Amino acid sequence: MEQALREIAALPAVSLLAASPLYRSRPMGPQDQPDFINAAACLETVRPPMRLLAELQRLEAAHGRQRHGERWGPRPLDLDLLIFGLARINTLNLTVPHPGLAVRNFVLYPLADIAPRDLRVPGYGRLDALLARVDGDDLEKLGAGE
Ligand code: ATP
Ligand code: MG
Ligand code: MG
Repeated sequence: MEQALREIAALPAVSLLAASPLYRSRPMGPQDQPDFINAAACLETVRPPMRLLAELQRLEAAHGRQRHGERWGPRPLDLDLLIFGLARINTLNLTVPHPGLAVRNFVLYPLADIAPRDLRVPGYGRLDALLARVDGDDLEKLGAGE
């Protein structure tokens, strides 16, 4: 995760403005796989969203990500675009805001660590309202160095 953040920060025309602590969660979908580690990051870029996604997928591939396994199976790295300003995008290859965001505690908790509570998630409402609808019971916030 730390290496991925460094690689994101080094992308051309991308600045890494903030990164959340790491959170450990039980896997979604198939249960016979290890826990997942999650984080959220805030980027500034002049790249259009589809171009940014392509860059992120290139980093996933460089970390050994292959796209033929089962859905939500184990993977070395998954870089999703959660929100892109106030944009709402619905194309074949890109949906923004990310459709899982509003119901995933492992997304909302780290996002709330780096975003203002009144952040507007286009089509979903305010971040603090979304956060109030999930619980963090099965989430473990990891301290520095873990
Ligand atoms: P989930 O999207 O439920 O978190 P996943 O991240 O495991 O599942 P992937 O296999 O990484 O799914 O991506 C499948 C496809 O989803 C990608 O090829 C990409 O084109 C598409 N996609 C659509 N919207 C987004 C988004 N906001 N961020 C990342 N990928 C997206
Ligand atoms: Mg994902
Ligand atoms: Mg993904």
